[in-house]
Amino acid sequence: MSSILGQSEPQVFACPKCGEMINTSMAQCAYCDAPLDPQWATWAANAQATIASAFNHANNIMNVARALIVLFVASFLPFIGFGAGIGFNIIFIAFPILVLIWFPKYHWGLQGIDKNQEDLKQARKRIMKASIIWGVMLLLRLALTVVAILFLS
Ligand SMILES: [Zn+2]
Repeated sequence: MSSILGQSEPQVFACPKCGEMINTSMAQCAYCDAPLDPQWATWAANAQATIASAFNHANNIMNVARALIVLFVASFLPFIGFGAGIGFNIIFIAFPILVLIWFPKYHWGLQGIDKNQEDLKQARKRIMKASIIWGVMLLLRLALTVVAILFLS
């Protein structure tokens, strides 16, 4: 629950020398004794928090895509079908909004953070896969609509 800018609670980050996770309250690394510049440490901790948050949000986006599949299937079932269909529509519209929030915040808006950092790469890959699921759902939905118009009218 810590904000990205200015906080007093110590935050974790990777030691620039040995890579072990340490925090901003330390004047030197607890593992390799490397001296730590507090300003740099704060920056590194913020970068770490931003990357962790980007990763978590990418996971959430993937979970939303998975929920789309479940709701799509459920929309064909009796009793819960109608509700599942409504849920599908809400999540279907929410998905691109989540993606449109992610990229300015965790890709274009990154300051001084390497975009090719491994967790960020993973996060983007996950969003890409989730977007493919969303696209397939869109095509299925369109195909079903066409079928309904052709055969059920
Ligand atoms: Zn160290």
